[in-house]
Amino acid sequence: MPELAVKNLKKQFGDNTVLHDNTFTIEDGEFFTLLGPSGCGKSTTLNCIAGLERPTGGSITVDGTTFVDQEKGVFLQPEERNLGMVFQSYALWPHMTIAKNLALPLNIRKVDKAQQKTLIHDALDKVGLADLSGRYPHQLSGGQQQRVALARALVYSPTMLLLDEPLSNLDAKLREQARAWLKRLQTDLGITTVYVTHDQDEALALSDRIAVMSGGHMMQVADPHSIYERPATPEVAAFVGRCN
Ligand code: ADP
Ligand code: MG
Repeated sequence: MPELAVKNLKKQFGDNTVLHDNTFTIEDGEFFTLLGPSGCGKSTTLNCIAGLERPTGGSITVDGTTFVDQEKGVFLQPEERNLGMVFQSYALWPHMTIAKNLALPLNIRKVDKAQQKTLIHDALDKVGLADLSGRYPHQLSGGQQQRVALARALVYSPTMLLLDEPLSNLDAKLREQARAWLKRLQTDLGITTVYVTHDQDEALALSDRIAVMSGGHMMQVADPHSIYERPATPEVAAFVGRCN
C-alpha cells in the first residue's frame, strides 16, 4: 500500500480551475517532488495534502487514513493530520530561543515538559544544532535557521514532511549545502517527503520521483533519469532543459 494516495484531486478558485483531476501515489520513505513553473499548482497540491486548502473534488488518503474525500464529505483539520511542514519563509518566533520555538508544537500537543526536553534535543541533534538550543533565531545563519525550521517540523514525529520551496530564501552556496544536507536527513530518517520546487536541478538532485506540473495538470510522474532522458511532452522537455 502506498503511503499517500491522491485520487482525482481538483481545486477551483471561483471559475479558475487550478488543479485538474490529478491522481498519484507516493511510497513509504520516498522523496517525491512537485516540479513546475510558478503558478502551475504545486503549493495548492501541497496545501490540499496539509489541509490548508479544501479540494473541490477527489480524495487524499495517508497511511490508510482518509484526510479528505469531497464525495463522502470527509475533511480532517490540519492538526489532525500529523504532518511536518516547512515553507519558504521559516517563520521562527524572533523573541523565543530555538528550544522555545521547538516547544510550541509540543505545547499544542500537550506533551509533558520532561519529554519535551528529550524530543527537542533529539530533533536539533538530527539537524546538527543541538548545541545552539539557547540561541535566538537572529543569532543563527540563514542555513541554520532553515534547519531549525526543519527540526521544528520533525519534533513531533510527523508521518510525512511537506516542504514548499524551503531553500529559495538561501543564496546559491548555502542552497547547495542545504540540498546535500536535506538528502542526508531524508536517507537517515527514511521519512516520506513531498517537496515543492520550481528548480529543476534541485528536483533532479534530490528526488526519487518527480511529478512535472503545468497549468494544473501532472504532465509526467517518473524518476529523475526518465524525466530527463525521456520527457513525455514538449513542456516537460522544455522545463527540464532538454530541447528535443
Ligand atoms: P505554484 O505553487 O505552482 O506557484 P499555486 O498552487 O500557488 O502555484 O497557484 C496555482 C494557481 O492558483 C495560481 O494561478 C494562483 O494564482 C491560484 N491561487 C492560489 N491560491 C489561491 C487563492 N487562495 N485564491 C485564488 N487563487 C489562488
Ligand atoms: Mg508555490
